[in-house]
Amino acid sequence: MPSRKIAWLLPGLLVVPFYAWGFDYETPAISPEDGSGYEEKPGWAADEFAVAAANPLATDAGYQVLKAGGNAIDAAIAVQMVLGLVEPQSSGLGGGAFLLYYDGHDVLAYDGRETAPAAVDGDLFMEDGEPLAFMEAVTSGRSVGVPGTVRLMEKAHAAHGSLPWAALLTPAITLAEEGFAVSPRLHTSLANDEALRNNDLARAFYYDEEGDPIEVGETLNNPALAAVLKRIARNGSAAFYQGGIAQDMVERITQHPERPGEMALDDLETYEAILRDPLCTPWQQWEVCGFPPPSSGHLTVMQILGMLDQQPLLEAPLDDGVTSSGWLHQFLEASRLAFADRNYYIADPDFVDAPGGDWSSMLAPDYLAERSALIGQESMGNGAEHGRPGEMQTSFAAQPTQPEYGTSHISIVDAEGRSVSMTTTIEQAFGSRIMSDGGTDLPGGFMLNNELTDFAFQPEEEGEPVANRVEPGKRPRSSMSPTLIFDRESGELLGSLGSPGGAAIIHYTARTLVALRDWGMNAQTALNLPHAVTLGDQVWVEKDRFPEATRDALRERGHEISERALTSGLQAIMRDEDGSLFGGADPRREGVVMGD
Ligand code: GLU
Repeated sequence: MPSRKIAWLLPGLLVVPFYAWGFDYETPAISPEDGSGYEEKPGWAADEFAVAAANPLATDAGYQVLKAGGNAIDAAIAVQMVLGLVEPQSSGLGGGAFLLYYDGHDVLAYDGRETAPAAVDGDLFMEDGEPLAFMEAVTSGRSVGVPGTVRLMEKAHAAHGSLPWAALLTPAITLAEEGFAVSPRLHTSLANDEALRNNDLARAFYYDEEGDPIEVGETLNNPALAAVLKRIARNGSAAFYQGGIAQDMVERITQHPERPGEMALDDLETYEAILRDPLCTPWQQWEVCGFPPPSSGHLTVMQILGMLDQQPLLEAPLDDGVTSSGWLHQFLEASRLAFADRNYYIADPDFVDAPGGDWSSMLAPDYLAERSALIGQESMGNGAEHGRPGEMQTSFAAQPTQPEYGTSHISIVDAEGRSVSMTTTIEQAFGSRIMSDGGTDLPGGFMLNNELTDFAFQPEEEGEPVANRVEPGKRPRSSMSPTLIFDRESGELLGSLGSPGGAAIIHYTARTLVALRDWGMNAQTALNLPHAVTLGDQVWVEKDRFPEATRDALRERGHEISERALTSGLQAIMRDEDGSLFGGADPRREGVVMGD
């Protein structure tokens, strides 16, 4: 498979023998997919270190860094920078991320979530007293939050990195200059996106004059992104958050033709990534660590799992290798209850108080036992209501469900047993559809996020404020669930996992954890299992993956079922009992695992 070799020379720093693998997308076992592609993957074994990411070129960049003696944080930076180039629809410089890091002793939670500019208010997405249509809000300057990924990477590198910062950007710079083969997923995402064609820079860069996207396997260079990355390599995040690149982002946001946003240079200059306390929750023999608010991920995942552990044990949670209707019923009902709590309570902790003054009140075993007892034989349908964890009475209103999409996940374990679980996003595919060339006037650039549409559009519901309403300087609630798993008794790291997929990230992560712990599955077979999702009302089951009898049995219990593609992008790396590693990448996307 490897078809070419490049030595990236780093003047005055060090020489790292990186090998760039040129993947031929016509032949290998990586399927084209945008929504429903599914191709079995083998799972990958490694002795000492491994990296899993959503694109082979990005995985390779991380692998080369680990091979050259870099640690998990170093590798994550190299992976992220390449992802922004080769998978620009999902993450990049213009977005945000949550990075969970185990340094061999402690778990640290780096929050690089996008932030609302200082000039916005609760009516950001309201016009004439009505909320904007979702896509009108997305494809506007108003949806763009202050990007966090670059500051996040720099902060984590300053604290933990071992290779020089500039060296870690070199793989992305080289690929941006020399070009990379467009993958089937990028091609399909471009083909399917009408709104992106309305952006002048993106149209000129990704499409021909007829509006047809660049073909699979064609070489794409991105000179503007290479120039921007070089400046960041030389001068750190200041080059991004101040000066010409910042100026260009602000202009493109504030001069949006239909709905300009209110981003100011000062919003960019003052952006900070925040080091937060992770949430670590005992779950039988495991301790599961995840991200605290503003992500709702860990709290909602662990509420579902905590409720499931209180449910009557099923004789057959699996039926012919697929989750049975009995297990799915319990899982979906627990999801309904957990999402009712999430929609009511969870938002940026710098703006709202946790129920009972502590987010862990939402995971208290007594509370979850009480919630679990609400699950009966018949589905509660859309009738799940939030509970009362802790004593504190709040006067919030529940946020109605909104769509979320896009995103990418990176899992890494290095040779010293340090580990990264990082979920990274620009929200929708291609974010706000606003491209910035960083003021370089060169072809290409990077996409700006639409993360602010993760806020509630209406600041109030029936006269009560919604916890996740827009406020200046606030970070929108997320579903991203980067996860690290430990053995409770020995304290040893057992694994790293996560996924994109909007609110369904929570279901993908929860179900994978059950498959890994309870059903003896490995990091590949656990990801392969078909998905079922509810946010509280109807249930979506993965298209063509459940027997009709299972769907009928769920209908008989009162679930409203429909089939659709559920494009998770799970990556997982687990440590086996003998200390070796086994990684899996989602059969629904292009990811691979590499390690030694
Ligand atoms: N914006 C979403 C969140 O932060 C992620 C979108 C996705 O993964 O699809 O929860």
